Amino acid sequence: MSLTELTIADAASGLRARQFSAVELVRAHVDAIDALNPRLNAYITSTREAALKAAQQADEVLARGEARSLTGIPLGIKDLFCTNGVRTTAASNILRNFVPPYESTVTANLLRDGAVFVGKTNLDEFAMGSANITSAFGPVENPWKRNGDDAALVPGGSSGGSAAAVAAGLAMGATGTDTGGSIRQPAAYCGIVGLKPTYGRCSRFGTIAYASSLDQAGPMARSVRDCAIMLQSMAGFDERDSTSVNCDVPDYSAAIGRSLKGLKVGIPAEYRAEGLSAEIGAAWLQGIAWLKAAGCEIVDVSLPHTKYGLATYYIVAPAECSSNLARYDGLRFGERVPGDTLDAMYEATRRAGFGPEVRRRIMMGTYVLSAGYYDAYYLKAQKVRTLIRRDFTEAFEKVDVLLTPTAPTPAFAQGEQSDDPVQMYLNDIFTVPASMAGMPAMSVPVGLGATGLPLGLQLIGRPFDEETLLATGSALEQAAGFTHRPAIRAEAAK
Ligand code: GLN
Repeated sequence: MSLTELTIADAASGLRARQFSAVELVRAHVDAIDALNPRLNAYITSTREAALKAAQQADEVLARGEARSLTGIPLGIKDLFCTNGVRTTAASNILRNFVPPYESTVTANLLRDGAVFVGKTNLDEFAMGSANITSAFGPVENPWKRNGDDAALVPGGSSGGSAAAVAAGLAMGATGTDTGGSIRQPAAYCGIVGLKPTYGRCSRFGTIAYASSLDQAGPMARSVRDCAIMLQSMAGFDERDSTSVNCDVPDYSAAIGRSLKGLKVGIPAEYRAEGLSAEIGAAWLQGIAWLKAAGCEIVDVSLPHTKYGLATYYIVAPAECSSNLARYDGLRFGERVPGDTLDAMYEATRRAGFGPEVRRRIMMGTYVLSAGYYDAYYLKAQKVRTLIRRDFTEAFEKVDVLLTPTAPTPAFAQGEQSDDPVQMYLNDIFTVPASMAGMPAMSVPVGLGATGLPLGLQLIGRPFDEETLLATGSALEQAAGFTHRPAIRAEAAK
């Protein structure tokens, strides 16, 4: 099998068995980036030379028999994670030339375990978007195609570069961040696995902030086991993040293939929403049947406040974004456009630095936080958020995990939905509630729809019970036997 088609688990054993070297493995991936990135635009920055050097060191570590879980494994890093000495842009003009002097905790953890970073992946500007079309570095193309149709499709967002890179074989896995669905929805659109851990499981230190009470880092990979391996490395308490939770990190890989006998799987009625495509509805029913066959008990549940999820998310997230992005003032970080007065400099800098979607969010955020409207919008949204969380808490008194669709439709074409922000926000209808509640959730590819595009199902778990997601996800993965690969991929480009 080609080196760009292997899973992380298989590559790690191949490296230990000397079937190939880390240099060969990493070279296959950086060559694939050189060949395909001009088209896919999945990476903003390639770190080819540093990666090849790191691969050489990985081979020495392997030769000494000191390999760790990710030694020599080529990963893509969403360009929202600060990487020491490597440009980190958040896909924004305002950080176009920002080179952090420090490493985020999540990426430091991956480096500690031997991972080799092949580049910084593209995203929606400051992670705001669902189609990876708001990047200041241009849109990302989904490597999948509709049957008999060459139209360029979106990879989902905001972690669209990570998803496209992993699907196409330009990385074995990648980091993502998920504020309202940005790991799960692009994973579904690109036919890969994406896991948003419980809020507080992975440190936010050194991850450029969008909405701090929602942002969570997580793994994106081509198998459930690979997500378990990556999460093992990424997770853990960090005193530099005040919302990082100090609890044990279990052995995630041990959950893979665990028996599901007697596991109670909840099916929330409210997710049979308007706008759910027929093929995704059918995939959901198929998923239910597979879990039943694996010994699960299927239970109907209700999450009555689901319908307020999007409306409250699009108050809370912009409010926090308007506050977080106030720091880009032309003084301390990033680009500066001079002006005659301090205020003129702020205005010119921010006008040139932020794209239209980011500006829209900042304006919405400052509006809902403003004196006359704070109670009517922000405070009310926080109260509804409590009710959304309570829905989940009550459901998890009856069931162990929830099964839902990840997104209402498969990937759409570039240009579709882009003139209507509200239509675009609807993509997050199934992912936002778990984000508002801080619950862990994962998307698993379960099949192809009528037009040949991947379909994903979402599992939502109890706080800090990522293991049940991995166990259930691996059962779905096995039943689905999803081995389809996209039209544009490293192996086919050779
Ligand atoms: N699409 C959602 C938004 O634009 C979610 C983005 C994310 O999770 N970062 O806010």
